[in-house]
Amino acid sequence: MKGPSTEVIHRAEGASRTADPLTTPIYQTTTFLFESADEVRAYMEGRSDKFLYSRYRNPTVQSVEAKVAALEGADAALVLASGMAAVSTALFGLVAAGDEVVCCSAIYGNTLRLLQGMFPRFGLTARFATLEEFARPEDLIGPKTRVVWFESPINPTLRCVDIAPVADACRRRNVVSIVDSTFASPVNQRPLTLSVDLVMHSATKYLNGHSDVTAGVLAGSKALIDRIEPVRRLLGTVLDPQAAYALGRGLKTLIVRMARHNASALAIAEWLEKDSRVTRVFYPGLASHPDHAIARKQMQGFGGMVCVDLDGGIERASRFFDRLQVFKRATSLGGVESLCSLPVHTSHWGYTDEQLERAGVTAGMARLSVGLEDVEDLIEDLDQALN
Ligand code: PLP
Repeated sequence: MKGPSTEVIHRAEGASRTADPLTTPIYQTTTFLFESADEVRAYMEGRSDKFLYSRYRNPTVQSVEAKVAALEGADAALVLASGMAAVSTALFGLVAAGDEVVCCSAIYGNTLRLLQGMFPRFGLTARFATLEEFARPEDLIGPKTRVVWFESPINPTLRCVDIAPVADACRRRNVVSIVDSTFASPVNQRPLTLSVDLVMHSATKYLNGHSDVTAGVLAGSKALIDRIEPVRRLLGTVLDPQAAYALGRGLKTLIVRMARHNASALAIAEWLEKDSRVTRVFYPGLASHPDHAIARKQMQGFGGMVCVDLDGGIERASRFFDRLQVFKRATSLGGVESLCSLPVHTSHWGYTDEQLERAGVTAGMARLSVGLEDVEDLIEDLDQALN
């Protein structure tokens, strides 16, 4: 007797195709069906909106892209395999050999390493400018500048770039402005409304919000996204559908999560500022922060990141770090669990003294990612760790 054939299993695949699910399912498929050669040809000629291959386009990924675009007020968005995939795919999509990227010197460490270490191998130049230079944006742009890249708020000092004047200067000179808005999230800051051309996030952080997905996003005009999308196909930097599903689920609670992150971080920053055991508190929502006025102008909330400087170098910062009980000792940020990291041991590891000074980072700094726990428990933990 003949057993069941594999073909019957394949045919059964179609049994649930008429379902109309509430949530976008995980389209865990690398490829999509066509009825005929004509249908394939129509796709290839751009006359069909069918899906062909998941490295190009996938319905789960596409539904997350629509959500990100809506949150940022963008025409279009791309979801990528990590924040760094978003950085590299955007840059390789927009510049060519001989071009220059102007980048703020206070920037995420691996963006700096990409621009400084890898770019020159492809005939691309990166020029780093200080925050003071970013305050005079007309002088930033040279004849070969094609992209101006910056971050706001900046890790770990939470310094802010006045976004609109930089974006306007770029527009006047036909240069693409890109902001890494990871620390703000689209709830607290919408750079496209300030004339920025492209917004980038490490979606690993607030957008997903649960410290269980590595992802990145880009959002901007359709014209810019259309320049970058083919590069994502070639570099293969698209996000996997399973991870895209988790990111899409995280996005549904982004607004309520950010309200809690904002409120708890502000309460913690205000508490720390009154404590004589802390030398300095960096939080853009504090009047004492050097960029408080800029933050008030361009942000709707000040975010969940707080940085403290414990005068006493890495020894004192390490003692504080080791004593924490509710805050977990881990890098990254933007999740439900509160985390602490020491910038000179993580994001700024290996920086020269001069690079640290340019980034405004000291050895006595501890960076807090304030999560969703009860704020009283978090303050109690900081209190005992500071002793
Ligand atoms: N940009 C910022 C501000 C970050 O903090 C990070 C990661 O820490 C990245 C970019 C890179 O993102 P990912 O780790 O998702 O590649």
